[in-house]
This record gives sequence, structure tokens and C-alpha cells, in this order.
Amino acid sequence: MLRLPELNILTPGTLAEALVFLKQDGAIVVAGGTDLYPNLKRRQVNHGTLVSLAGVASLKGISGNSESGLVIGAMTTLTEVVEHPMIAAWYPALARAACLVSTPQLRNAGTLGGNVCLDTRCLYYNQNELWRQGLGYCLKSFGTICQAAPKSPRCFAVSSADTVPVLLALSATLRLTGPDGDREIPIEVFFRRDGIDYLAKKPGEILTAIALPPAGALKMAYLKMRTRNSIDFPVAGVAVALETDAGNKVTRARVVLGALESTPLLLEQATTCMVGNELTSELIDKVADMAGKAAKPIDNTDMSPAYRKQMARVLTRRALQQLIC
Ligand SMILES: Cc1cc2nc3c(=O)[nH]c(=O)nc-3n(C[C@H](O)[C@H](O)[C@H](O)COP(=O)(O)OP(=O)(O)OC[C@H]3O[C@@H](n4cnc5c(N)ncnc54)[C@H](O)[C@@H]3O)c2cc1C
Repeated sequence: MLRLPELNILTPGTLAEALVFLKQDGAIVVAGGTDLYPNLKRRQVNHGTLVSLAGVASLKGISGNSESGLVIGAMTTLTEVVEHPMIAAWYPALARAACLVSTPQLRNAGTLGGNVCLDTRCLYYNQNELWRQGLGYCLKSFGTICQAAPKSPRCFAVSSADTVPVLLALSATLRLTGPDGDREIPIEVFFRRDGIDYLAKKPGEILTAIALPPAGALKMAYLKMRTRNSIDFPVAGVAVALETDAGNKVTRARVVLGALESTPLLLEQATTCMVGNELTSELIDKVADMAGKAAKPIDNTDMSPAYRKQMARVLTRRALQQLIC
């Protein structure tokens, strides 16, 4: 059995208190702990102090309406996201993505904020310490080379959070608070193309909420590919959101690929190609080809890179086809 290292767990009751606790050397935030605890057990990360957000009531809950959109507290659990009637009605792809995360038990504990901030994953990183030690560790965890791409100066660990592609397709904004105060940023600037430095989160910052703009007449879908449908992380995912006018022409559209690289990929080319045009099967094929070309997975997850690249094309086509049915 893998055991947790000795930990100092701090339990603030307010956000202000949490920010103070986070100033301690080596301190990190824990939300549901469904990803952080396994990573600590395998010694992938080394934090002696955890600042638990479980007692910070202001980070929990969902508010808003159809006019203003919704604000989802970072500590809202994935189960709450799945079961919330307004999310199911207005943002069904988000409910679907949350529902596809791991298992019911983990969704009861895991939070939306934790999913957005989820550590990147790699076959050479998500292993126990002995396994990694035998190989000489890796760039992301106590080593000096990327085992997946030994000549690369950067880490290729994969962005694997199911809700992130959907939140990007929905143009969500993120609310953060930290030592320099509060800020709100579009979600697309939060992710970096680096498996180690994967979030544009400043030191000591806490994600407080995820804000969704009004859904209006937006249609959306999320499709995920994984090895075992009962539990696994995605190895490819596609989120699409689009709106059409009375003449069936696309007025806004976003296509996002997930779980293929260190960052989710917002296909801006797809938006340009779809807006102003009718969503015909020819256009769908064109956008699906774009997705296939844009996807550049490497061999560091389940399933081969060639298959995942091909499935980026297939999933994109299927997701768009769902929206014209
Ligand atoms: C067997 C198994 C299967 C899984 N399958 C999937 C899957 O299919 N899809 C998927 O997306 N995930 C999966 N997960 C991962 C995990 O359960 C979810 O991603 C969950 O949403 C993580 O949320 P959490 O609250 O538990 O995060 P935690 O583990 O508490 O934290 C994750 C990271 O986010 C940081 N963090 C958390 N909250 C905040 C905040 N508010 N501000 C700043 N930083 C924060 C933490 O410091 C940590 O680095 C799986 C996990 C397991 C163990």
C-alpha cells in the first residue's frame, strides 16, 4: 500500500486566512484531494503543508440566472455540477463532462476548481517512486530529461481535465485571488503549453470561481475517448459550442481539443471557417480535418499517438454532427 508522507494540514475558515497560510514554504492548496493525494502517495510532488479549502464556505455553490450566466464556486463538487438543474438545462456539455470524470465516489469529493487546476499527466510521471527512480525520474519530477521526448527542453505531460475543453468552448472566465488582490481572466489565457508550468496562476493564488456567460441559444457537446469507460482519464476529448441564426448560419462557434497535449487546444481556425456559413456535412468534414491536423499527441498516454490524432478528427466530426440532429 502506498502511504501519504507526513503532512501538515491547515484548515482555514476564510479565504483571507487561506491566503496567509499559503505563504508558508512548500504549501499547496488541496480541494477534494482526489488527484493531489495519489500524487503525494506516489511522491510525484513533494509538499509538506496542505491548505485545505474544505472549510471556506464562500468558495462553494452555484449562483446566477439565464440573463447573467452562472458563477460556480471553485469548491463546488463535480456531483453538484452534474446534478444542478440550471447546468443541465443551459450547459449540458459541462454536466456531461463532469459526469464523465472518474467514478461517483471521486465526483462526490472532487471539485470543479480542482479539475480546472488539475496536474498534467504522463505515463512517465504518474507512476510510483520506485518505478520512476528505476528510470532516472523525469523533467517534471526530480529528473533532468523528459522521458517521453528526451531531446525536448520542455515537459510534454498532458492536460487531462474533462471539464476544461468545455469551459473553454463556453468562453468561461476564471476568478482568482492572491497576494496581489483579485483578478478575472478568460479561461484560455490560464493554460500554458508546458507540462510543468501548465497554469498561468501566480504564486499563492487561489481559483475562487468559474463564471459562465449566458448560454442563450448555444448548442454544445463533449465527447471523450479513454481506455475504460468506467473510470479513466481522457486520452482525447472534443468540446464544441455553437449558435446558429434563423437562416441556419453559424453565428458563433468554438471547437476545443483536450487531452492531446500539455494545453487544451482552442481551434481558432475552426471558428473562422464556421462563422457565417451553414453547418453542412462538408463543413463538418473540413473542421474535423482541421482538428486532426492540429492534434499532435506524443507517446505518453494510453493508446498510440497516431490513433489519438485520428480520433481527434473522428470525435470532432461526431460532436458537430450531434448539433445538427
Ligand atoms: C482513479 C481516478 C480517476 C480519475 N479520472 C478522471 C477523469 O476521468 N477526468 C478528470 O478530469 N479527472 C479525473 N481524475 C482526477 C480528479 O478526480 C478530478 O480531476 C477532480 O476534479 C480533481 O478535483 P479535486 O478537488 O479532487 O482536486 P485536488 O486533488 O484537491 O487538487 C488538484 C490540483 O488543483 C489544485 N487546486 C485545487 N483547487 C484549487 C483552487 N481552488 N485554487 C488553486 N488550486 C487548486 C491543487 O493544489 C492540486 O494541484 C481521476 C482521479 C482518480 C484518482
